[in-house]
Amino acid sequence: MALKRKFNKTRKPKHEEAPKESVNSPSKAESSGGTSIFKTSPDQIRQASKKQQAENDLRAKERSMPFRFYLKRGESKRYVILDDEVTFGMFEHTIKTPDGRYRQEICIKEKFICPLCEAGLDNGSKFRTFLSVIDTTPFTTKNNVTVPFSKKLLPISDRQQNQFYKYHSKYGTLRGLVIDAERSDSQTSYSIGDVLMVDDQMSDEQLLAQFATDAVVNDGKVIREKNHCLTPFNYLEVFTPKTTEELRMQYGGSRPIGDDSGIPF
Ligand SMILES: [Zn+2]
Repeated sequence: MALKRKFNKTRKPKHEEAPKESVNSPSKAESSGGTSIFKTSPDQIRQASKKQQAENDLRAKERSMPFRFYLKRGESKRYVILDDEVTFGMFEHTIKTPDGRYRQEICIKEKFICPLCEAGLDNGSKFRTFLSVIDTTPFTTKNNVTVPFSKKLLPISDRQQNQFYKYHSKYGTLRGLVIDAERSDSQTSYSIGDVLMVDDQMSDEQLLAQFATDAVVNDGKVIREKNHCLTPFNYLEVFTPKTTEELRMQYGGSRPIGDDSGIPF
């Protein structure tokens, strides 16, 4: 399948894979019919423009995603939970990209055809729950501004979810729990830490005293609400699932090359 091939590390070198038509020859590139470098009919042009715009929209969606809490191997950090309890979960794919990084994609199999599941990628999606946390690790922005803390998403894998239900039973709420998280050097360590220790439970007054922020306004538009670090994310706004067609467009898929039927432009 095209999708599998795209992320197959052991794939053949490009020159072996390239179809003969892709050899750079002006006469072939400009030939009419089939795929061409140049778009010369109004319908083709309109379709290519819309496809490009849809791709831009996807990128914009991804850029606006909040950062996730994450530890490197051997690292430890402290965070504070903002949710009262776990109220959001979904299936998610973790995909290794050709440059060796990992990225997540929302799995849509519960309601629609998921091209990533169809391709057997990532051995199927996993159920993850999410919390909102204040990461208390300071960081410095590109403009050399030091930010003392930041609100992040905490993705909790299936094998760690029970730990948070236990915290909820024990403390009555997750909100305000101060967690010291440590990640071991092990290959199989969890990205949010293997050892999670509750160090404290902060009240709302303490949270306000320590993590109050001003509103951020740009061009008269509120970019960040006042004290935005004190409320959990609205998960239904943060996570916008892609459609079957969008996932196919981004990752390839089983649809025959050149068959754009069903793509909603
Ligand atoms: Zn899926």
